[in-house]
Amino acid sequence: MFKRVLIANRGEIALRIIRACKELGIETVCVYSKADADGPWLRFADRAICIGPGPAKESYLNIARIISAAEIADVDAIHPGYGFLAERADFSQACRDCKIEFIGPSPESMAMLGDKVECKRTAKANKVPIFPGSEGSIEDEEEAVTVAAKIGYPVIIKAAAGGGGRGMRVCRNEASLRANIRAASQEAQAAFGNGSVFIEKFLERARHIEVQCLGDKHGHAVHLYERDCSMQRRHQKVIEEAPAPNVARKKIEATCEAAARLIRAANYSGAATVEFLMDEQQNFYMLEVNTRVQVEHPVTELITGIDIVKMSILIAAGHALPFRQRDIHIKGAAIECRINAEDPDQNFRPSPGKVATWEAPGGPGVRVDSHVVPGYSVPPNYDSMIGKLIVHGESREAALIRMSRALAEFRVEPIKTNIGLQRRLISDGEFRRGGVDIHYLERLLK
Ligand code: ADP
Repeated sequence: MFKRVLIANRGEIALRIIRACKELGIETVCVYSKADADGPWLRFADRAICIGPGPAKESYLNIARIISAAEIADVDAIHPGYGFLAERADFSQACRDCKIEFIGPSPESMAMLGDKVECKRTAKANKVPIFPGSEGSIEDEEEAVTVAAKIGYPVIIKAAAGGGGRGMRVCRNEASLRANIRAASQEAQAAFGNGSVFIEKFLERARHIEVQCLGDKHGHAVHLYERDCSMQRRHQKVIEEAPAPNVARKKIEATCEAAARLIRAANYSGAATVEFLMDEQQNFYMLEVNTRVQVEHPVTELITGIDIVKMSILIAAGHALPFRQRDIHIKGAAIECRINAEDPDQNFRPSPGKVATWEAPGGPGVRVDSHVVPGYSVPPNYDSMIGKLIVHGESREAALIRMSRALAEFRVEPIKTNIGLQRRLISDGEFRRGGVDIHYLERLLK
């Protein structure tokens, strides 16, 4: 087992990883930026090392500085958390070059799954459902038009190296496709250093359903079932839940098994999520694979009883998965509401600043993953998520009631938060019926 782990992240996920390490008897080293000098999570680490100023480029995204800190602190491994460097194959490679274990996949499997064209090819070979579309990247305008005519409009142009919702264009007819294909490729080249684009069928009304997977270094991979993350705004998830409501279990289970096959085929070790869109006929189409622990991992932890962050560490240390697929069962239902420091009445403008009052909910079935304490000042430099409220209940209905109760207990002042909006969403009729689509929230806010 590792003796000492460096955490290349901040906020709630840094604290989540510290907690997992402590329970595994591992020492922790946090790196932090000057903007996070007062970060409450740093107090729980055995050591904290400042790696630079507030801007992420000069700190949390700076590979050289993080590796230097890891060498100074003499750690065995680095946990990247999510965001920042978590999906950078060059970071995984830099760790390998310095003989530090990267807690996540090898640079090879990360690069393969991270390239959308490559990933789709492997998915297809393993009978994972994918969107109808071009087989590989599109080389010219005529090829794009031929493929689109075959699959039918609307289509979406995507960059092979795209991410974060950037580099996508929806085309509703041939003229629009012709007008956009070259610009999309040039834009991808400028943004990602890779001009390769492809097209696929665009779904007007879809739900986002993803599958949590774990793979070890001994060729085993399992899935931990699905999460429904359809409540989104600008491609950002707002509420996540499991199991997905109102979907035939047979279809879900076939999709979960396909996801585990893909992870196994990629020789993947660590936690991964295979994301899908589901159409109104409950057909699934793979979107992409996230090669890291996700924000919404607690939802799955609550319904399966498996500690995903601990598993990610154990796997990196070479342990075999301690369970088989048939040992993994769903118990009850779980829901997560992301709590953001933002003002929903001012177009979700970030609302950083001092948190004088922080009264988090508690009681049976309630979990709060947050680094915030009263008096903490939310810096303006990073993502506005300040915590996650996750509840577990014996049924979806019970979890919804519990979430309403917990949100009503939550008091954060004087900064603005989305807690009021979350209360509205949890009691929203359509949401309670189960199965809102990915554009539902944006329609509601109009
Ligand atoms: P990124 O890596 O940039 O996040 P994704 O492939 O995951 O890109 O797509 C981001 C979002 O774009 C999805 O969550 C979905 O809302 C929308 N999207 C992507 N592909 C399609 C599609 N074929 N049909 C409908 N919406 C899509």
